[in-house]
Amino acid sequence: MKRFLSTILAVVFCFSLGVGAFAAGTAEDGQYVSSAGWVFITIDPGHGGADTGAIATYNGRQYAERDLVMKIALYLKEELETYRNVSVAMTRTSNAASACTQVGTIEPRVDFAKDHGADLLVSLHLNAHNSTAVHGAWALTSNGNYNQGVAAVGTAVGDNILNELSKLGVTRQGHLIRNSSDSRYPNGTVADYYGIVRYGILKSVPSLIVEHCFLTNQSDFSQFLSTDEKLRQLALADAAGIVDYFGLEKKDGTELSNAIVLTDYRDHWGASYIDRAIQAGWVKGYPDRTFRPDVTLSRADFVTLLARLSGEDLTPFGGSSFPDVSADSYFAQSVAWAVNAGIISGFPDGTFRPGEAITRAQMAHIMALYLKHKGFDTTYTGDGTDSRIADIGTIGAWALDDVLFCYGAGLLNGRGANFEPDGIATRAEACTVLTRLYDYETTNVPASPQAAEVAEDASVEPAEAISPEPASEIPEPESAASVPDGDDPIIEPDAIIPDEAQTTAGNLVE
Ligand SMILES: [Zn+2]
Repeated sequence: MKRFLSTILAVVFCFSLGVGAFAAGTAEDGQYVSSAGWVFITIDPGHGGADTGAIATYNGRQYAERDLVMKIALYLKEELETYRNVSVAMTRTSNAASACTQVGTIEPRVDFAKDHGADLLVSLHLNAHNSTAVHGAWALTSNGNYNQGVAAVGTAVGDNILNELSKLGVTRQGHLIRNSSDSRYPNGTVADYYGIVRYGILKSVPSLIVEHCFLTNQSDFSQFLSTDEKLRQLALADAAGIVDYFGLEKKDGTELSNAIVLTDYRDHWGASYIDRAIQAGWVKGYPDRTFRPDVTLSRADFVTLLARLSGEDLTPFGGSSFPDVSADSYFAQSVAWAVNAGIISGFPDGTFRPGEAITRAQMAHIMALYLKHKGFDTTYTGDGTDSRIADIGTIGAWALDDVLFCYGAGLLNGRGANFEPDGIATRAEACTVLTRLYDYETTNVPASPQAAEVAEDASVEPAEAISPEPASEIPEPESAASVPDGDDPIIEPDAIIPDEAQTTAGNLVE
């Protein structure tokens, strides 16, 4: 099935529109990659740790399922990664103790897959039987009683893999569907017996178990398990079944090899905006492959993102005009750029308060000034009302016109019926406004393009753009300093420090 191809093409198209023209942090150097169009496979090498799985002895040598499926898993990963836009994770890569290798618990393996955005969890096993005559391959798949769409994926992939294994000569035993004797799905139907399958259904992770053949059958062993090359052939059969289902295409030699594909926002309301912001290099992610869309961001972070969006050369800017912005902080250059561009001017007490979470009203104000810097007329000319904003009376006078301009221009939406001026903006919201600012810039004609050019060339006219209106950015200090309320999760300061801080401190990618 080729259902992912259209998405992949859409991503390519998006790039060709020039989103990548904002050079910083594009895929070549930033390594953080949007998950749009990617397929996420979690491979689960069965058993592990103290749990050996099936054991058999041939010619005086003992073979453990635990170790043979690890070899198959590594070959499978290697093969899948020769395909474009596939991200492979493994529930274990050794026999080290972990949640996934804890004997008697299966759920952590499905949780691992869920955390890695799995489109498929394939658990690799070799079978055992009291009768050494029993042989062949089974796919352990769902009874289809619940979450049918998810169940169907496991069934279809299992079918593909059984077909591929039979091409190698493994006897196709078929699908094994086993019902639980005591547990039920939320719709009251009988649940699946096998934990990988059952938890997969419950957590919407398409999953299956592949029992490639019987370790306890001498013929299966000597034909399919007795050498690394034979194990690799089993892995290639698994890969072929998966590749066919997802319609994957082989990479060519020039494609990314060490991309960090971000997986935790695929079901988020802002996913399409986040995709674009990542692809354009305005935002990055975290080394643990998360984007953290609902984490709030600081004033310094937002200005940093805006500086990237601008595409302007920041090298002429340095130092700091604020006592609380260290000239060697990761955001100092962006802040200096924004001051020079008239986008920010700080608080009446002369501070910038870089670590404070940015409110939605502050964001609107800065957005309007950003577009003004780019030469657009952002003067609000309406009558000061907007029926879409129920809490309009709570928006400070310093920001009201900017909020109304942003609403009118389609740059901002509310949260439900309200604007929530003192609400703390999230990373997802920041991505949304960045993409909308970009679209605004690229589809509207600046009222004064010349002004924008002058402002951008700060090295020529350094003083020209600096005339901050001291009163213009001033939210009431209490509200700016107040603890955020509402639904936004409040994360400890570390978490809202963006990627750059981590890049410097953690020296992540490369
Ligand atoms: Zn097993």
